[in-house]
Amino acid sequence: MEENKKKIQSALKVQEGIEQPSSINPQLINTLKGKHKPVFTVDEYVEGIINGNRTILSKSITLIESSLHEHQQLAQLIIAKCLPYAGQSIRIGITGVPGVGKSTFIEALGKYICNSGHKLAVLAIDPSSERSKGSILGDKTRMEELSVDANAFIRPSPSAGSLGGVARKTRETIILCEAAGFDTIFVETVGVGQSETAVHAMVDFFLLLMLANAGDELQGIKRGIMEMADAIAINKADGENIKMASLAKAQYKNALHLFPPTDSGWIPEVATCSAYTREGIENIWNIINDYKLFTKGNQFFNLKRQIQAKRIMFETVNDSIKDNFYNSNVVAAMIPILQQAVLDDKISSYVAAQQLLDAYFKDKSIL
Ligand code: GDP
Repeated sequence: MEENKKKIQSALKVQEGIEQPSSINPQLINTLKGKHKPVFTVDEYVEGIINGNRTILSKSITLIESSLHEHQQLAQLIIAKCLPYAGQSIRIGITGVPGVGKSTFIEALGKYICNSGHKLAVLAIDPSSERSKGSILGDKTRMEELSVDANAFIRPSPSAGSLGGVARKTRETIILCEAAGFDTIFVETVGVGQSETAVHAMVDFFLLLMLANAGDELQGIKRGIMEMADAIAINKADGENIKMASLAKAQYKNALHLFPPTDSGWIPEVATCSAYTREGIENIWNIINDYKLFTKGNQFFNLKRQIQAKRIMFETVNDSIKDNFYNSNVVAAMIPILQQAVLDDKISSYVAAQQLLDAYFKDKSIL
């Protein structure tokens, strides 16, 4: 409108020219779409991250989380250049059922760690975040003190997606945070599903938060999750709860004795704490440091990271092959027919599977 008015009022007659192509690289137009964000080169992103520039770190994480192909490509280049600067941290997974006090605990332990001069990044995995919308894990409003601490960086969970996708984004975010100088990484997850296995597979130390009402709790939390724990912290050990908490501590210690020995040789610790009074919080940090010393001493620390890196490589290959297979037009067209044939007992499941695979490979070899 304003533009048109100016045109009409102008005494100068401008000859309409031939439409010129945009001077902006078309690859970058999508990046800019709708937002007037500055676009950095890969090196500028990397430099910003390494210099600890939080705005650039956040923007880079947004690229990791984006589903746009261009963003993904840019993110991969940034990650590759950050890798040599990453790895120098302790990665700590924190899990527990909703209400156990995870965010209060992270705020308490986080403040303690930051006050000791460490730089802490708090990330989260919550593939169900679509359901809870605003109140996703890692939400800054839940950690008021920590979110304003100069030594802390809190990033909410990437928005919902497949667990594999969300886990991958968090793993890549860890690399950027480490390159930005964060020496302690928390990865928080809700202790109700598969996400703790994904978190366990990306951290050095796995902490399970529990409550004192042991009987129910022991059954409520899956045995598999307890087996993954390097330490169990019984939270809310304050006020009238203190006695129950120490009783629970003894029970969990006994329960852990029944589990097979851990690969690291580390005997999982059980401790009580109160995220409220902050009693016992320092002890949890000491346990984590003891674990680090112990596993660095027997080389397990690096071995575990190597095993994790190898697993991620194969997982990525497996996921890509699977995606490619099921997204192939030939396969997608055949599936409903073969599926019905199997259900009607016309062919066996194996024959149907083989026909799908044959069709897929034949199609690929033509390409
Ligand atoms: P999350 O769902 O696991 O993140 O748990 P929250 O941190 O949101 O805490 C759940 C509830 O437990 C909140 O009302 C907290 O105030 C309370 N809470 C957390 N930690 C403690 C603690 O150490 N002692 C007591 N008494 N209450 C706590």
